[in-house]
Amino acid sequence: MKMENFGSSAFSLLRIWLFGILGCYKCRNHVSLHDDIISKAFQGRNGRAFLFTHVMNIVVGAKEDRTLMTGLHTVADAHCGDCNEVLGWKYERAYEPTQKYKEGKFILEKSKIVKENW
Ligand SMILES: [Zn+2]
Repeated sequence: MKMENFGSSAFSLLRIWLFGILGCYKCRNHVSLHDDIISKAFQGRNGRAFLFTHVMNIVVGAKEDRTLMTGLHTVADAHCGDCNEVLGWKYERAYEPTQKYKEGKFILEKSKIVKENW
């Protein structure tokens, strides 16, 4: 076993233990860590949504332009990698300078994710 691999997986386990995992509400596929939430103040299609720096086990769909409350964005649906349910979307591109920080980040709807082990 390589030490660096062991080190990073131990760190991941520590983060999971400390901060908790978020799973798909349908199949419990692990999709993100609570620690990776940047903001809880986002609006999804069906209520509150969270902005994440990283997600996992997510499949991104086709890109499309959408005009949101904060202006024009290129977004792509974010599907659960296991059951294919749409859990949110990815910001591929933001056109307003004040919204650029969202590029490459993910929105997951609060109603579509469940907390595990915390
Ligand atoms: Zn799922």
